[in-house]
Amino acid sequence: MSLADRYKLSVLNIVLKVYQLKKAETMSLEQLEDLQRKRFIKMLKHAIKHSKFYRGYYQEHGINLKNIDEVTVKDLPVINKEIVMENFDQLVCDSDIKKKEIEAFICDPHLAHMKYKNKYEVIHTSGSSGRIGIFVYGPNDWSILKALVFTRVSKNKLRLSSKAKYAFIGAIDGHYAGISLAKDSPKFLFDFLPVDINGPLHESVTRLNSFMPECLCGYASGVYLLALEQLKGSLKIRPERIVCSADPLTDDMAETIYKAFNVKPINFYAATESLGMAAQCDLHEGFHMFNDWHIFESIKQNGEATKPGEPGSLVITNLYNYTQPLIRYRMDDEVILQEKGCSCGWPFPVFSKLAGRKEEFLWFEGPDGNKEYIHPITLVEFIVAGLKKIQFVQVEKNKLRLNAVIQGDRDATISGIRNRMDEILKKKNLINFVDYEINIVEDIPNDPKTGKYKLIIPFRQT
Ligand SMILES: [Zn+2]
Repeated sequence: MSLADRYKLSVLNIVLKVYQLKKAETMSLEQLEDLQRKRFIKMLKHAIKHSKFYRGYYQEHGINLKNIDEVTVKDLPVINKEIVMENFDQLVCDSDIKKKEIEAFICDPHLAHMKYKNKYEVIHTSGSSGRIGIFVYGPNDWSILKALVFTRVSKNKLRLSSKAKYAFIGAIDGHYAGISLAKDSPKFLFDFLPVDINGPLHESVTRLNSFMPECLCGYASGVYLLALEQLKGSLKIRPERIVCSADPLTDDMAETIYKAFNVKPINFYAATESLGMAAQCDLHEGFHMFNDWHIFESIKQNGEATKPGEPGSLVITNLYNYTQPLIRYRMDDEVILQEKGCSCGWPFPVFSKLAGRKEEFLWFEGPDGNKEYIHPITLVEFIVAGLKKIQFVQVEKNKLRLNAVIQGDRDATISGIRNRMDEILKKKNLINFVDYEINIVEDIPNDPKTGKYKLIIPFRQT
């Protein structure tokens, strides 16, 4: 790694970013908008200079380096995951980054904890659309993100006398958003325990009991499962701060978590497109949008902006990722921008998020007739080289059909799917209990009832 990159990843650089973030927290709304505008123009210039895709795309819309200072975000076309993935090699700002290489990189389990080319953090998702997305962060991008989450979300207490202890529950065996960020905190300040959401629950409970985290973070569904264990009495931890992200945290879940730990969970909105977009403050109202490093918009189906209080699709512009710029990128989430701020003192405006679609758990009968689940996130993040789209249909109680759309090498892709599926079943001790078949198809249509893609279809006894 070059000296410059080492500096960008250094604690010193992170401390400087924390200072900038802290400063933004004391700004007025107008000052924040000014800062946002400056960062937006800087990002736009960078994208037009270094990204072949953006240069060409914006040229078509009459936008170039000469007239850039007059441009507002609303003058630009909206993009989405499909456009980003189709134009990947031309969109990224470093010609060293190649989609084909990254696909091979993320599918190799031995490289799960490595940086791509020893430099880039790679995060992948398929999300609820079933379409795979890859997002790359360079050293400085990554440090801004770490500083942001540290300052505004995890808010870990730092002591010189002993390390802060925190645990993360989620998928931990790949380049997933949560674990990539959680594991990357400085070792001299933090003691970190990763807890595998796909492992047997009783083992997680034992490890957590001996670790005793002060901060518990992870997938909302994972923290909820732990809360149920705490209420049963098997788990006996006393976290002081709880942060939930990834899957939806419903009011009922939040209440159960509070009942179990006497701590109200902080709901944190993060996605692979930006791992630190918005979070609740300690007053637990809406999500504060971190608009010093993002632009948030809410638009209607026809592309017009929604009025405050009206639901719309969230469109984000990431102002810190100079490696893979995302400018006016439409997320899969629906939000309602609020007119009224929050009384906590943060200048960041607030949105409420419409509960995302909850994917379903698949339940199977395991050894000794006990029930065992496969967590939906495992299937949402089912990444295999050559696999374009997948759907999991539970056709019988202990039988699955995997509908798969593939591209490229058929045999290699099928064997990749098989390996990944076996791995998931093995972890849950279900390998000899659950049967599955792989069904290669041309396309997987959306659910005719909802018009939306259905990734998981559980077995319903009739
Ligand atoms: Zn607040």
